[in-house]
Amino acid sequence: MVLKQKRVFWQIFPLILAIILISIALVSWYGSRSVDTFYIEESGIDLENRANLISDHVLELLNAEDIESLRAYCIDSGRASATRITIVAPSGTVLADTNENPDTMDNHRSRPEIDEAFDGVPGRSLRFSNTLGERMLYSAIPLIADGTHWRAKDESGTIIAVLRLSMPVTAIDTALRTINRKILGGTALAVFAAFIVTLLVCKNISRPLEDMTRTAERYSQGDFSQRMLITQKKTTSLEVATLATALNRMADQLDEKIKTIINQRNQLETVFSSMTEAVIAVSLDENIVSINAAAARLFGIEKQTAQGCLVQEVIRNIDLHKQIHRILGTGESFEDELVLAHQNGSIFLQTHAVSLLSGEGATIGALLVLNDVTRLRRLETMRSDFVANVSHELRTPITSIRGYVETLLDGAIDDRDDALQFLEIVLIKSEQLSEIIDDLLALSKIEKDVSEGEVDFEHQQLLPVLERAVQNCQKRATGKNMKINLACEPSLYLSINETLLEHAVANLLNNAITYSEKDESVDVRADREEIDGQYYVSIRIIDRGIGIAQEHLPRLFERFYRSDKARNRQNGGTGLGLAIVKHIIQAHGGTVEVSSTYGEGSEFIITLKSS
Ligand code: ADP
Repeated sequence: MVLKQKRVFWQIFPLILAIILISIALVSWYGSRSVDTFYIEESGIDLENRANLISDHVLELLNAEDIESLRAYCIDSGRASATRITIVAPSGTVLADTNENPDTMDNHRSRPEIDEAFDGVPGRSLRFSNTLGERMLYSAIPLIADGTHWRAKDESGTIIAVLRLSMPVTAIDTALRTINRKILGGTALAVFAAFIVTLLVCKNISRPLEDMTRTAERYSQGDFSQRMLITQKKTTSLEVATLATALNRMADQLDEKIKTIINQRNQLETVFSSMTEAVIAVSLDENIVSINAAAARLFGIEKQTAQGCLVQEVIRNIDLHKQIHRILGTGESFEDELVLAHQNGSIFLQTHAVSLLSGEGATIGALLVLNDVTRLRRLETMRSDFVANVSHELRTPITSIRGYVETLLDGAIDDRDDALQFLEIVLIKSEQLSEIIDDLLALSKIEKDVSEGEVDFEHQQLLPVLERAVQNCQKRATGKNMKINLACEPSLYLSINETLLEHAVANLLNNAITYSEKDESVDVRADREEIDGQYYVSIRIIDRGIGIAQEHLPRLFERFYRSDKARNRQNGGTGLGLAIVKHIIQAHGGTVEVSSTYGEGSEFIITLKSS
């Protein structure tokens, strides 16, 4: 049932007004009644006095039994004084009357005022006269036979008649009506004044309450910008002012608390949205309660539109749905994995699912945190590939060493020529092993030094570094009757680690010699170039050897990658030289590139920043 509640004004205003109106009405009625009674009383006394005045003469006429004169007297003096005079015998018979013929009048013994007067006391009555058709006031006094005035009535005195005087109260009524009219006018004025005063008083009581109600409603809608000012008004009552002060204080505290909550929420929101992990919160009915920017990006959806939607409608991944079912079903946290098909390859996600609990500890949904572990996975794959490659590279020479040693042990050692040949092969294979291990150690040292920031760079002249690299390879070049042409301005200075750079250039020069036919030449050239206002130094190692097919170029700098496996085996390379070069140049903040035409030669270009 809906209660129809009234405004406080309408609760108190009619009530107070009614009380005041009833009070005024009662006072007016009582005043009017009092005046009426007073007038009647006074008129009654007046009539009685007049009766006393004429009682002696009437008694005289009665004693003389002169009824005729009595009747004449009653008529004359009654008319003269506008008062009706009636003389009634103890039997009730009317002896004389001013207005009527006594013979035609009925017995008056039972009239209350006459009855009282026959009892020896003056009687008075106010009643409506049917005979005259108006309200009449009667006053009767007893007439004692011996002439004793009734006031000093002797016990033994005989009442021989009753003298009654009466008059219409029309005049009194008229006067009373005038007075009542005035009272009514005063009452109306009082009512009007009471109405205005009550209205003002009620307004004064209700207005602050209404103001407070309005402000409190604003508070309930979260608007704390206003405060109740009624506390500063003089007319405000103590209770209302105390209530308003309490409400103001409450609003201050609420405002403060809400601001704190909003700040905390914003901070959480910032943390939530700047997290690299994807986070999805779902309700028990699998609706998305919250999703952060990383998750929206990962699943290619709009954060705003996804919120509130069923997770199955927005994210199409069966495994994710299964994981949500699982956490909602069991409530037990778990870690799992998820693979997302993406145009650039699969994305591997590590998922962590937990139940969302309410303040009371009841499950209200689930939270999934998804961590992109694709890079980690690739690194793991690279690491395991690397281990497999290293094992493979090491196993090949070891297998041959083992084979030849076993052959020697099986008897080949007895044949000196075979034994020498086998032992030479064993030596070559162990040198290969040693080279691979040296290269692996060199590679890992560069990686370690770079990651730990232990590579020292100095501003150095480039020419001596290149000269030493050429010198290192000179013996092999001369062995193949090859010429190395070095062209580098002595003025070129760079911030470099000379040992590492020499190592890199020597590696490239070695390859150029290895993968070229006899009598060819190799060029080593260093130039200063300007690209987009920035100066660079390029070091080019150009050969006219076998070249590299285009399909191999993108992977050439990977560890153990070889473009021509058969020839490589023959040349005995480790497959790590270019990977070492790449790491050294990267440590210098530079780049290394290759361009080659199969069968015509190759060009390796190292580009380093120059100041
Ligand atoms: P390797 O020790 O086998 O030479 P590298 O990492 O130095 O290993 O070279 C990787 C592969 O690149 C080589 O096996 C070879 O096939 C190719 N390569 C490198 N330099 C040249 C070059 N100057 N001419 C032709 N092929 C080359």
